[in-house]
Amino acid sequence: MPLIPKSHPRAKSLFIREKLVTGFDNGLVAKEGLLAHGRGEAFDYLLGEKTSNTAKLAIKAAAAQILLANLVVISINGNIAALCPKEIAKLANTSRAKIEVNLFYVNEKRKQNIIKSLKKNCVKHILGTNPKLSVTLPGLDSARRIVDKNGIFAADVVIVPLEDGDRTLALRKAGKIVITFDLNPLSRTSQTANITIVDNVTRAIDLLNKACKKLSKTNQKILKKIVKDFNNKNNLSNSIIEIRDNLTRRLSNA
Ligand code: ATP
Ligand code: MG
Repeated sequence: MPLIPKSHPRAKSLFIREKLVTGFDNGLVAKEGLLAHGRGEAFDYLLGEKTSNTAKLAIKAAAAQILLANLVVISINGNIAALCPKEIAKLANTSRAKIEVNLFYVNEKRKQNIIKSLKKNCVKHILGTNPKLSVTLPGLDSARRIVDKNGIFAADVVIVPLEDGDRTLALRKAGKIVITFDLNPLSRTSQTANITIVDNVTRAIDLLNKACKKLSKTNQKILKKIVKDFNNKNNLSNSIIEIRDNLTRRLSNA
């Protein structure tokens, strides 16, 4: 008998939660990662647990930006490794991106567990594993900002799903173009990134894969226009308006 019946009204959300719990039991996810997921769930509820047109706009801009990049690196933490390792492997393939394990709560054992799990999911080359290639982003001294010389350090575009605000700012200061998935349009990460996809990463990652595929034959001029026309601040405001409208609808239905 499955623990969560498919007929449960909140089955999808509970399945995602289950992935995090399994990830925690398997030593991939930090305790704090479970709490961060809870914060995300709350915003997902307010957003109506669906991909909005606003998010779709950010996904298209992100795909164009990825296709224009010289070097894209996807930064992996425990939550992402637990939630969508296969989709990350696919994104790395379709966008010629590198994958780097970069943890907020540094823990060697957990890092090794994440690497093992990524390899199981067909990720062949993983950066952030060789201490000899570790460098600190210039002008920054916290241990959290240690990155791989051939990965985030060298990248022009960094994808940071479910990131912390401090680190997002550090990446921006280092001149990186930052793309993030973050359900909270108010978070520092959302506000600091160049392109914020306000959606559950478990829904949006496949859409980003599809958008990369769809735009892969598009010429650079058009790709550049897509990026130029995208305004992250406006897009975040529209996400906040969506939350407000969802709440207003609930008020009038009461
Ligand atoms: P910040 O440091 O950017 O201000 P925060 O401190 O509120 O944000 P963190 O714990 O640093 O939050 O980062 C986790 C972020 O990831 C949160 O904003 C949360 O809403 C978001 N999040 C959690 N789960 C998901 C998910 N499945 N998809 C997308 N975003 C998620
Ligand atoms: Mg934070």
